[in-house]
Amino acid sequence: MSGPWHPTGRARVSPRNPQAIGVCQRCGLWYQRSELVPQYEWAGVKMQNLELYICTRTCYDIPQHQLKTIIIPPDPMPVYRPFPEPFASDDAGGTTITDASSPNGFFAEDVTEEAARVDGADEALPDPNDFASR
Ligand SMILES: [Zn+2]
Repeated sequence: MSGPWHPTGRARVSPRNPQAIGVCQRCGLWYQRSELVPQYEWAGVKMQNLELYICTRTCYDIPQHQLKTIIIPPDPMPVYRPFPEPFASDDAGGTTITDASSPNGFFAEDVTEEAARVDGADEALPDPNDFASR
């Protein structure tokens, strides 16, 4: 005779087929040792044994996939010579892409004009380690 009210808990005791009894490390009830399984949990890219031997009847937790590390696939190979739309020269009203002498739709003069429009680009930044000038 066995049951949850019995001193042997949920373990079955048989004099003809003796088996080891173990205590579930979560609920504390007795089970056959063969019914106690290790609890695993996601840790990084693999499962980690939590060294808890628990019953599968009430205590086993399904490993949580949100604890698994997301592995992002590598970036795709870049396109050789992508030919993007020349928005900078279009907005400036400069040369158009139909200009036969410019294969990219913009000239080197346009690039230098764009760089000159950046405010304060030629001013030197203050030295953050120079405390004497403050
Ligand atoms: Zn249990």
